[in-house]
Amino acid sequence: MESGIHIVSSFGAEREFSTHNPATGEPVAQYPVASGKEVDAAVARAREAHGWWQALRQPRRSAALRRVAALLAEERTTLARAITSESGKPMQEALLSDVMVAADAAVFCAEHASAAMRGEEISHDNPALKLKRGRLVWRPLGVIGIISPWNYPLSIPAADTFAALATGNTVVVKPSELTPRPVLELERLLAKALEAEGLGGKPGPLQVVTGLCATGEALIAAAIDKLIFTGSVATGRKVAVAAAERLLPVVLELGGKDAMVVLADANLEAASSAAVWGAMMNAGQTCISVERCYVDRSIYSRFLGLCLDKINRLRVGNGAEPDTDVGPLITNRQLRIVEQQVEEARSLGATVHTGGRALPELGPNYYAPTLITDVNHSMSLMTEETFGPVLPVMPFSGDDEAVALANDSSFGLAGSVWGANAHATRVAGRVEAGAVMINDLLSGFAVSGAPHGGLRLSGIGRSHGMLGMRELLRPVYLDTDLLPGMKKLWWYPYAGNLDAMAAFTELLHARDLRSKARAALRALPAFFHKRH
Ligand code: NAD
Repeated sequence: MESGIHIVSSFGAEREFSTHNPATGEPVAQYPVASGKEVDAAVARAREAHGWWQALRQPRRSAALRRVAALLAEERTTLARAITSESGKPMQEALLSDVMVAADAAVFCAEHASAAMRGEEISHDNPALKLKRGRLVWRPLGVIGIISPWNYPLSIPAADTFAALATGNTVVVKPSELTPRPVLELERLLAKALEAEGLGGKPGPLQVVTGLCATGEALIAAAIDKLIFTGSVATGRKVAVAAAERLLPVVLELGGKDAMVVLADANLEAASSAAVWGAMMNAGQTCISVERCYVDRSIYSRFLGLCLDKINRLRVGNGAEPDTDVGPLITNRQLRIVEQQVEEARSLGATVHTGGRALPELGPNYYAPTLITDVNHSMSLMTEETFGPVLPVMPFSGDDEAVALANDSSFGLAGSVWGANAHATRVAGRVEAGAVMINDLLSGFAVSGAPHGGLRLSGIGRSHGMLGMRELLRPVYLDTDLLPGMKKLWWYPYAGNLDAMAAFTELLHARDLRSKARAALRALPAFFHKRH
């Protein structure tokens, strides 16, 4: 039960695993472990579905997605409860950052898929090719594999699924073994939406395979056309290696160590509330949560005082209770990672102002919201992903030092800068990350049009928004000749044509008119050259 996973039965290939409520440690549900054969069968069903799904007119696909959005909103409370029972997050977060974000993504993809797939004329300046018309068009890739994590068990797989479906692809999702329920609910809601749209009774465009690491490996080996993986850097590396073996294109959405920079002219009330929420929401288990906070020395102690007061007012408890601000960590293993990083920092001279310990009196996986200072970049707390309710704060002097500290990281997912707008915008422009928010944080993830993704260890490619949909399309260059019966000047035979072609090159690129005229005369024989 180390990882929160428990294989409950094993006879032949029919294995099952169960999930546990992180708040209590009690079992929640059992699910089958999909074997390699079952994964292949799911991919084959998705391939079969691709035939009818991609042949639908775009408005029909969009109508189905809009209906899914409405169903998500209708069933919000049941869904939020299911999310909380397996992930431990407070119900309000399940509602907002999973259900609402997912519904919003469905509507965005429904509205914008046509634009993402819209073709364009390809112009060129070469007069010799003027009788050609070029067009770039976008086609669905086919079957998209999606492997997703536990921390946003609905919104992450749902947003990727909607982007794929909207653009005419079909999907096989392998949800995290810690939180499979929301994706199974999504499959149910999509089936309901398709039925209501008169599209029921066909192979489903969304297939779900539950299981552990081996099921994910089987999906990478299966006949999918692209993989979107969201998870840890360690697994992301293995996924990239396996994908490279078969040259499978991948999007990798991996970890982060996001910096928050608080400038001297920031609104301290707002910035301190944001720092506390950004570090503690989902118990700090968000890829773009505040993992490092740098504060101008002139406001450092006032900022710390405000954060301390706000952290001490947080209610820690079971996410199913409506008043809970901070729930448990996902597993005991995650709790120990947080403990180790805080203990190491303490042993190297850091000061814990509040928290800094597990809360076994509440349940197996609770950690007290923590404010910690006297930290530096020799500590893993400041360099590795913590994924816990910990706010480490470090002072800086001047913009240059702030930028240097923020960029001193092997990650580059997101970040935020707080200060007078023009000043903060200047500093934000120097922060190296996939997204930088000015006087706000985290909510960029909820803007469905915004691309999401990072640099360095934070991954490859983008999800969400138009760029996320483009990842799931293949560009095709279509070329039409306006004089289809004409043999081209550059076709066989080459004998006797070399000088004329050399003259053509000069004609196209000579800088003065006299040279162009001379070259035109020398190029003339090419038009009378007998071609076979
Ligand atoms: P994880 O890497 O442990 O697991 C992610 C998924 O990969 C799970 O479904 C798991 O079963 C599967 N998996 C495990 N081993 C595999 C293998 N060898 N081949 C194929 N699949 C395999 O990650 P996690 O603990 O579920 O999620 C937390 C991590 O995800 C954090 O590092 C967090 O920062 C990151 N994350 C990133 C983003 C982002 O958008 N960049 C979003 C959310 C979470």
